[in-house]
Amino acid sequence: MRRRIVAGNWKMNGSQDLVKQLVGKAHDEVGSLAERVEVVVIPPALYVAQVQASGQRAVAVGVQNVSQWQSGAYTGELSAGMAQDLGCRYVLVGHSERRQLFAETDEQIAAKVERVLEAGLVAMLCVGETLEQREAGVAEAVVAAQIRSGLSKVAESRWQQIVVAYEPVWAIGTGKTATAEDAQGMHASIRDVLAEMGAPANDMSVLYGGSVKADNAAALFAEPDVDGALVGGASLKAEEFFDICRAFPADH
Ligand code: PEP
Repeated sequence: MRRRIVAGNWKMNGSQDLVKQLVGKAHDEVGSLAERVEVVVIPPALYVAQVQASGQRAVAVGVQNVSQWQSGAYTGELSAGMAQDLGCRYVLVGHSERRQLFAETDEQIAAKVERVLEAGLVAMLCVGETLEQREAGVAEAVVAAQIRSGLSKVAESRWQQIVVAYEPVWAIGTGKTATAEDAQGMHASIRDVLAEMGAPANDMSVLYGGSVKADNAAALFAEPDVDGALVGGASLKAEEFFDICRAFPADH
């Protein structure tokens, strides 16, 4: 089933105090939002247990990255199985910061997606073009290639464990957002690529990410192929994050 999702990626930000403030509040807010949208909090992994405890199932929880391996002598890594063990539902894979700052390759990303699916979790695959690629007119080709390689190992029965997050790199943390029309165009093209791969594209959620704020979320969510948002900076402010969640029209 296509789900509406608003996910907050805290990146390397946060504290026990923030968990108390933000997730404590979620409890009151989410009751009224439950029909409209699934709210997901993706804190640094060290805070997952505290988010789980304070969220009391009002929010779904995710991690920002997992290892490409199942287990073993990989000091500093966290496995998809551990995320599952702690009650997580989502794992971000291939965020542009992982691709750019940590040189994650397409092969590693595909292996991580495989680990996440094996663990029974949902992989939120992040894709998106740079400004240079957009200006060169190859944005759709770049995104299509990222989807084809990132999801190359998904078995037919596992597509419901995939969410795609379209995050143009030039829009992440910059205050620049794709127009609702540009986002819709790319999301429709992502769905075409998924369909070509044999995925049930119309039943899959495709989220937009890149400087989503309370004042631009409604226009994005009004587009037929935008099923929600992956939110970075604005997810650290409780009021704004829940305003974004509320920006979904009830009849989308
Ligand atoms: C992100 O990190 O996934 C993101 C979209 O960040 P921001 O909302 O700050 O642009």
